[in-house]
Amino acid sequence: MKSSAPTLTVHKFGGAALADAAAIQRVTAIIGGAHGQKVVVASAMFGVTDDLLNLARQAVVNEDVQTTLDALRQRHKSVLSSITSDSNAREVLEARIGEMFDDARATCSEISRNGELTPVLTDALISHGDRLGARLLAAALQAAGIQASFVEAVDVVRADGVHGNGSPDIEETTSAAADVLRPLIDRGIVPVVPGFVGRAPNGEVITLGRGGSDLTATLLGRALGARDVVLWKDVPGLLTADPRVVPDARLIPVLHVREASELAYYGAKVLHPRSLIALQAGTRLVIRPYADPSAKGTQIVVDRERKPAVGRSRRPVKALTAIADQTLLTIAGNGMVGVPGVAARAFGALERAGVSVSLISQASSEHSICMGIPTSGATAAAAALRQTFAAELTRGEIDAIEIRPDLATIAVVGLGMAGTPGVAARLFGALAQEGVNVVAIAQGASELNISVVVEAREAAAAQRAIHSAFRLGKIGGGTAVHPEHADVVLLGFGQIGRELANQISTHSTRDGEQGLRIVGVVDRSGYVFESRGLSPRRLADLTAAKMARTPLSGVRNGVHSTAEEAIAAISAHALSRPILVDVTAGDTLPVLESALSHGMDLVLANKRPLAGPEKDARELARAAASQGRRLLHEATVGAGLPIIDTIQKLTESGDQVLRIEGCPSGTLGFLLGALGRGTAFSTALRSAMKHGYTEPDPRDDLSGMDVARKALILGRLIGYSGELADVEVESLVPEALRELPLDAFLDRLHEADDEWARRVRDAREKGTVLRYRATVTKREAHVGIVAVDASSSLASLAGTDNYFSFTTRRYRANPLVITGPGAGAEVTAAGVLNDVLKLAATR
Ligand code: ADP
Ligand code: ASP
Ligand code: MG
Repeated sequence: MKSSAPTLTVHKFGGAALADAAAIQRVTAIIGGAHGQKVVVASAMFGVTDDLLNLARQAVVNEDVQTTLDALRQRHKSVLSSITSDSNAREVLEARIGEMFDDARATCSEISRNGELTPVLTDALISHGDRLGARLLAAALQAAGIQASFVEAVDVVRADGVHGNGSPDIEETTSAAADVLRPLIDRGIVPVVPGFVGRAPNGEVITLGRGGSDLTATLLGRALGARDVVLWKDVPGLLTADPRVVPDARLIPVLHVREASELAYYGAKVLHPRSLIALQAGTRLVIRPYADPSAKGTQIVVDRERKPAVGRSRRPVKALTAIADQTLLTIAGNGMVGVPGVAARAFGALERAGVSVSLISQASSEHSICMGIPTSGATAAAAALRQTFAAELTRGEIDAIEIRPDLATIAVVGLGMAGTPGVAARLFGALAQEGVNVVAIAQGASELNISVVVEAREAAAAQRAIHSAFRLGKIGGGTAVHPEHADVVLLGFGQIGRELANQISTHSTRDGEQGLRIVGVVDRSGYVFESRGLSPRRLADLTAAKMARTPLSGVRNGVHSTAEEAIAAISAHALSRPILVDVTAGDTLPVLESALSHGMDLVLANKRPLAGPEKDARELARAAASQGRRLLHEATVGAGLPIIDTIQKLTESGDQVLRIEGCPSGTLGFLLGALGRGTAFSTALRSAMKHGYTEPDPRDDLSGMDVARKALILGRLIGYSGELADVEVESLVPEALRELPLDAFLDRLHEADDEWARRVRDAREKGTVLRYRATVTKREAHVGIVAVDASSSLASLAGTDNYFSFTTRRYRANPLVITGPGAGAEVTAAGVLNDVLKLAATR
């Protein structure tokens, strides 16, 4: 199809691109900078369609909808006020928004009165989201001086079929687009059309299925003979896998339309399943990142001649995807063997029941037929099959119609698979190695895809295994893509965990970016998980609960489990670049290993896993490396100070650290400082506890074991190969108080006051002060109290300051010194956050 001289591009912006006023401004800049004639398709602002659907569900059970409606109205209103300063335009639009919400409210009342959620009313309600989104975007464009005009979707997009899943009528839409959009375009005006919405033959509003704004865009592209349809998304383009499931997913620069439609059909959320049918030869479909408008993204080519040659291919598999919530229906029985038409009758029955089949597999013995269908349709489908095969069931020719729920279908797609031997073997080999049980298999006759059905809980692991078996992470030189979020799971929700949650909440909001989100929190009792991220308010609630000594298993939506079960359950969800943060003080090695095997990176503030037996620490590092995961642990020594980082940088640059000496205990530093100023030992220790500087049992600090662990961790970085027991440790806990329960210990603290007062006085008389010092080299590690010259740098440490001096080949005469605050939840959490951000920024 040819288009008139200037080239036309349809630009579509999804919910993520329209998340808030700042995002809408970015979109405005993209359109302002784009050449040629344009049509814009806008969807609902992020999350609004879901909110409207929930509203419908609330209305049908007569729950109050006003609060949600008000919140939604407020959200749109406040975006409006920040995108346009023209008070006239604002007033007009505010009135429009008001009308739409009145309408939405009326629809809710009707739903409540009916007591039934009809598809017609649902469509009427949820269509408001995309219509509001488009109105706001049109206003933003106008405010930016771009000639733009909002056009109701029902005036352009015509569709037939079922409410909630309308199919576009290409011919009618083409003629409506010529009447309504073309004149605007020709006058240099940018029409802004809501996606997802169309008009049914009887004039009612109909929606095109979730994600339908992609379809609106390709449909309008075809209707107007556009050269390009650009879908602006929150991903760099179409990737080799869902980046939330497979962190190593890579950008696919060019994809044939048949491959893309296979991926879309099998659940790749990035494209509406039917969006590609509305494309035609001559139009390019491009998926591009709105965050980086100069990037090329993925081009989906339609032309036949661009179809890659079929035959042996170096990369037979392009990408994979999965459909969740699948059920397998099996019709089995001896009476089916050799009887023609069983399969056809089965599919006929399912079609009449309105159930779409994602996979069919029949053993060559013809003893059984399996069909993968969405779980939501399972009951209806089974009933339809029982009815169709009633006679066969009675005669015993069919044994039963079996239903197996809780499955997922994974589709592995690539044109190059046809004619490349060994693809299936590699696929099943990868799954077997991962221990994933394959429930059913189907290969399309076109050999364009192989689908496997697996248990839903194994779907994520299966996708990662397949992705790496076909080396999809190496496409394009393996350049990393950056999905929006890194998902953090907190192991431990004590002081540091809570402070970290607090810092992440404020970090995300302060920068206006949502780079990090905490999706799960795990404690000894169980866990809390929210795949979309725990909101700052929810985290604050959890903090309050923990302060009131309620375990996580006892809070709303809390689940009772062990930490390992929690990690397994959390990992079964599609997480984006998951990071497990260990802020416990426990022996968490098995949990960490399990997290690694589930594809999580690790950040540790917990010293124990690295200060246990050397072979365990080494094994952990090896496991991380072999699985391509990273392990950072800056906060295990010196809280937020860059100690580990410095050692690594020195080593990387070819230097060699010979000796580390320092005061790595903020707690003991604080205590000895106070003693030096004449404070009684019992008073000073209580004060340290009150400030949160000590471990829960302060004897863990006083015993020197905490410092010994730090010394061991540092030592192991510079070649010390001993165990914790080899570190010489001087304990500051008076003999008599070592074995007491904590309460009794605290009651009798004052017994040590006199002895400490004497030690401090003796030191002072000699012109020295007491410090707790660690010394490590390749050969030895010892920690204990020393009297240092009152004029030395160690003596001048104040408060909880830490001090480290590195003697290296280069810094031999004049050691490199790092000093600064080294205890307390705030600085420790900041150190952890630093590691987390480092991981988030580089994968
Ligand atoms: P829109 O904002 O246009 O509606 P969607 O949210 O529907 O965009 O689609 C983008 C999302 O699709 C991404 O954030 C990503 O999580 C998900 N996704 C799933 N599979 C893929 C894939 N193969 N490539 C890219 N993104 C994918
Ligand atoms: N807003 C609609 C939905 O959430 C359409 C879209 O986003 O593409 O499904
Ligand atoms: Mg979408």
